[in-house]
Amino acid sequence: MTTKSKQSHQTHSQDIQDVLYAKREKIYPREVHGVFANLRVLGVITLLGLYYIVPWLTWDGRQAVLFDLPERKFYILNLVFWPQDFFYLALLLVIAALSLFFFTALAGRLWCGYACPQTVWTEVFLWIERKVEGDRPKQMKLDKAPWRWHKFRIKATKHAIWIVFSVYTGFTFVGFFTPIRELAMQFYTWELSPWESFWIFFYGFATYGNAGWMREQVCIYMCPYARFQSAMFDNNTLIISYDEKRGDPKGSRKKNTDHRAQGLGDCIDCTMCVQVCPTGIDIREGLQYQCIGCAACIDVCDDVMDKMNYPKGLIRYTTQNALMGQAVRVIRPRVILYAILLCGLFASLVYSISQRIPLELDIIRDRRALYQENDQGLIENVYTLKIINMDQQDHNYQLSVSGLPSLSIVNQAQSQNIHIKAGSVLSLPLRLSVDPIDIKKPSNTIYFKVMAKDNPALVQQEDNRFLGPRN
Ligand code: SF4
Ligand code: SF4
Repeated sequence: MTTKSKQSHQTHSQDIQDVLYAKREKIYPREVHGVFANLRVLGVITLLGLYYIVPWLTWDGRQAVLFDLPERKFYILNLVFWPQDFFYLALLLVIAALSLFFFTALAGRLWCGYACPQTVWTEVFLWIERKVEGDRPKQMKLDKAPWRWHKFRIKATKHAIWIVFSVYTGFTFVGFFTPIRELAMQFYTWELSPWESFWIFFYGFATYGNAGWMREQVCIYMCPYARFQSAMFDNNTLIISYDEKRGDPKGSRKKNTDHRAQGLGDCIDCTMCVQVCPTGIDIREGLQYQCIGCAACIDVCDDVMDKMNYPKGLIRYTTQNALMGQAVRVIRPRVILYAILLCGLFASLVYSISQRIPLELDIIRDRRALYQENDQGLIENVYTLKIINMDQQDHNYQLSVSGLPSLSIVNQAQSQNIHIKAGSVLSLPLRLSVDPIDIKKPSNTIYFKVMAKDNPALVQQEDNRFLGPRN
C-alpha cells in the first residue's frame, strides 16, 4: 500500500468511527400538516385502534382473537386454528413478505412511512411530547434550560404519560395471548403470573425505549429492512425526492420577486424540510437510506411553495427516471408479477380456509406385531386412531373402514358412536380383522373414514396398511 493510499484508508476509517461513535444529536421534528400527514394519522388511528380494541372483542362468548399458546390453539372469530393448521400461518407469512416486496417495488418505503410499528408508536409519543412540552422551539428551549422545578415537572409529566401508555401497550400485547379480561383482573389484584408480568413489562419497556428514546436510531441502525430495501428499488420505483433541476440554486429571496432573474431556483432554503424530518436528514442531498418515506417534507415544502405562489411539488413522489427526464413505467413486469402472485396466494388462502374441515384424523399402526391370527382364524391388525374435533361444537362420529372385501372392525359397536367434545382429542384403539382368503399380498392399502353423524360435510379419510401372511 502506498503512503497516499494508507493515508486515505486511515481518513476513511476515521470518518466511519466518527459516524459510529458520534454522540447522538436529538432530533426535534417540527409538527406538519397536509395530505400525507393526514394519511399517516389515519394509519396510526386505524392500526393502533385495531391493536387496542381487538383483544376486547368477543365472539360466541369467548375472546374473538386469542393466540392461546398453552392450549396451542389460535382463535380468530369463528375459526380455531390448531398446530395442524401451520400451513395457513406459513402461507400468511409468505403473503406478508411478498406484500413487502410488492409495495417496496411500487412505492419505496410505504411500510416504513405509514404502517411500521416503530413509526406508528413514535407518532403517538411525539404527539404526547408536543402536548406536554410544546412545539419544536419550546422543546429545544426546555432542553437547553438548566434543571429547575419547572423543567423537572414537565419532563416528569411527559415520562409518566409515556410509561403508563407503554405499560398499557405491553398489557394489550399479552392480552392477545391470555384472555384479556382475566388478565385485567389479575393485573388489578396484582396476581399476574411471572411470565405475564415479564412480557407486559418487557414489551412496555421496548415501546418506551424505542418510541420515546431511540426513535430514528431504530430505523437507521437496527432495522434490517432499511439495509436491503435498496435491492428492491429500481429507476421506476416511486421515491420521495427533491427536484434539483427546479430547486437549485437555493437561496432566500423576497416574495413576489423574479427569482429566476436573480439566478435562483425555487428552493428558498428555509430548511423546513429538514426541520420536519423525523430522521434529521436533508432530502435535498439526494436519496438516503435514512429516509423512511414519511412524506413530511413533501407536505411542508408544498406549504412553502403555496406561500411563495410557486407550483407545488418541489419535493414529491417521483422516480429516478422521471428526474433524469426519461420515460416512467411505474407498472412494470416485476410489479405485475408480484401482484399476480399476491392475488393468487391470497385467493388460495381464502379458498383453503373456506374449505377447511375442522376434523383431523391420524392413524398409528401398532408396530409391536405385524399381524395376529384370532380364534376364528381371521387375521387382525391393531391401530390407534387420533381423532381431533377442531370444531366449536361437540359431535358424534361414526367410523368405517374399506379396502379389503371382508375387512371389519372387531369392536364395531364402539366405532359407531364416537363422542368427542368441541376442541378435544380422542385416542381410539382399534382392531381390524380380515378373512385370510381375501389377503392376496403381505401389505394392503386400507381406508379409514370418520364422519360426523349430524353433519356429513365433517368427514376425513386416511389410508394405512393392513399386513397379513404371504399367500
Ligand atoms: S422546504 Fe422546500 S423550499 Fe424550504 S428548504 Fe426544503 S426544499 Fe427548499
Ligand atoms: S427525507 Fe422526507 S420523507 Fe424522508 S424521512 Fe425525512 S421527512 Fe420523511
